[in-house]
Amino acid sequence: MEIKMFHLENDRDTAKVRFIPYPGGFVYAKLRVHYPKGDPMHPIRCTGDTCEYCKTHSNPPLRHKYFFALYDEDAKCIKFWERWPLGTDQLCDTLNNYKDIEHQVFAITRFGDKGNLATRYALTPLYKSATPELDPSELPSVTELFDFKYKF
Ligand SMILES: [Zn+2]
Repeated sequence: MEIKMFHLENDRDTAKVRFIPYPGGFVYAKLRVHYPKGDPMHPIRCTGDTCEYCKTHSNPPLRHKYFFALYDEDAKCIKFWERWPLGTDQLCDTLNNYKDIEHQVFAITRFGDKGNLATRYALTPLYKSATPELDPSELPSVTELFDFKYKF
């Protein structure tokens, strides 16, 4: 599957999407990363016992990074939405209230200008869609997503 990232760039930008649960039923895929001091735009994937960053730094902080798989109803393709912990818990709470999440079409709206770290996203349920033509087992793994975004 070709990986395409999902972005809402500007304040009040909106898109119509369906969330695709990962195998196991989670609405997101999550991985652990380090943010090197002075270079926060290039996070490093923590591989646990074999992590070079952990070995060369004493007790470096670990953060989580989330990826949501979405079906973009307008673009008619699957995209991946990268999120940081900020605001993601609320998002997950909202999504976990839906038993048949793969049928629910939402509007996602961005509230915050480009570059604003306090940007939030609102989800508005729109309607149910009866045609889930999505196979979660074909989704790329979270490490593939991370490496796609941050390989340099
Ligand atoms: Zn590590």
